[in-house]
Amino acid sequence: MNASADGNGLYALLSDEHVQIRDMANEFAQTRIAPNAENWNRDKHVSVETVREMADLGLLGLLAPEEFGGAGLDMTAFCLVMEEISAADVGTSVSFATQLSLTIAPLVNFGTEEQKQRWLPDLVSGARFGCYNLTEPDAGSDTASLRTTAVEDDDGWSISGTKTWISNGGFADLFIVFARTDGPGAKGVSAFVVDAGEGLTASREIPKMGLHSSSTAEIAFDGVRAERDQMLGERGAGLSVALATLDSGRIVIAAQAVGIARAALELAIGYATEREAFGGPIARFQGVQFPIAEIAARIDAARLLTLHAACLRDSGAPVNEIGAKAKLLASQVAVDAADMAVQTLGGYGYSAEFAAERLYRDARITKLYEGTSEIQRMVISRSLMGSAARS
Ligand SMILES: Cc1cc2nc3c(=O)[nH]c(=O)nc-3n(C[C@H](O)[C@H](O)[C@H](O)COP(=O)(O)OP(=O)(O)OC[C@H]3O[C@@H](n4cnc5c(N)ncnc54)[C@H](O)[C@@H]3O)c2cc1C
Repeated sequence: MNASADGNGLYALLSDEHVQIRDMANEFAQTRIAPNAENWNRDKHVSVETVREMADLGLLGLLAPEEFGGAGLDMTAFCLVMEEISAADVGTSVSFATQLSLTIAPLVNFGTEEQKQRWLPDLVSGARFGCYNLTEPDAGSDTASLRTTAVEDDDGWSISGTKTWISNGGFADLFIVFARTDGPGAKGVSAFVVDAGEGLTASREIPKMGLHSSSTAEIAFDGVRAERDQMLGERGAGLSVALATLDSGRIVIAAQAVGIARAALELAIGYATEREAFGGPIARFQGVQFPIAEIAARIDAARLLTLHAACLRDSGAPVNEIGAKAKLLASQVAVDAADMAVQTLGGYGYSAEFAAERLYRDARITKLYEGTSEIQRMVISRSLMGSAARS
């Protein structure tokens, strides 16, 4: 069964263009990614080449305007593609999303015309890969406490500090970095775009629970040079760039979570209908059926909320609250779906030779990055209750 192409009413409101791009992504994901996912994850192999192949299909340029080589499509298209890639291999979807959501999108939304000309075409074609450097060893959720500095001199800026947990950091050659230019607090932070070069090193790959087919690195900035025209957005508005990027990025992580949940559901259904116990398939036991039915319903709800958030983003509406809701809900569905798949597969669910175990580890990330679930609850609460909900 392929739940993405099942023709049920969930996708009835999509345009023909959206359906086409989703189907293209589905075919690419199922033929070029899914068959390799087990090996890539076992060998901790990041298939940069496969992500680059997505450029040939126009997928890396989804969000970029046509004048920079992009397709000028929208968040809805991005989410549809993201679900497909994530259902095939979560690590590869991280590489893909980091390029679009965390590199191309902030350039499109905050870059000057010159900055767009300079960097977008290479990012869209896959000639270059970017990464988003916000988190530091001592500043994660509390972004306003970041310590990386950018010191101004006659020629521009000198950036020093350490960033951690940087997706694509091990192979990226373009770095969006948030650094302190003007004293403490949120208003002292500015954003920069810097090229790989002197003073900039991916100091180590961080060993992690899952996402073994993606790169997550610590990045050291030691007097890295940035010209004045490499500042992204206004001076002192760096955290606005960062947080606006995450507002949309969370919708994409919700789509990733839906993809993970769908893969887990498909796995469980396939296994339950084939595995026999007590004289027939285990699918005939209500104890096996009901968790599958429950997750199927919750996946539909998570997908609808995610696409609703994407549509709102495409209409220009604020998505701070709805994006947080989508990520909060979908990430829990992903974790529960992966758990359900492990349980349905019994002992084989615990085996590294079956995909349920990988999905179980990979699903867990969706409750952590681009804002933990606690931070999503905080965002939603503040949106609902204003200053009364601020500590
Ligand atoms: C695989 C992976 C990839 C990542 N990729 C990137 C990337 O590309 N770029 C990047 O910049 N970052 C990236 N991150 C970092 C990620 O966004 C952070 O890990 C995340 O924001 C949480 O920050 P932290 O780890 O410092 O946890 P902390 O902020 O220290 O939080 C620890 C715990 O305290 C809770 N907590 C903190 N503050 C509050 C509060 N106010 N109310 C309630 N609870 C609270 C948190 O929810 C969490 O449970 C990545 C992380 C991982 C694991």
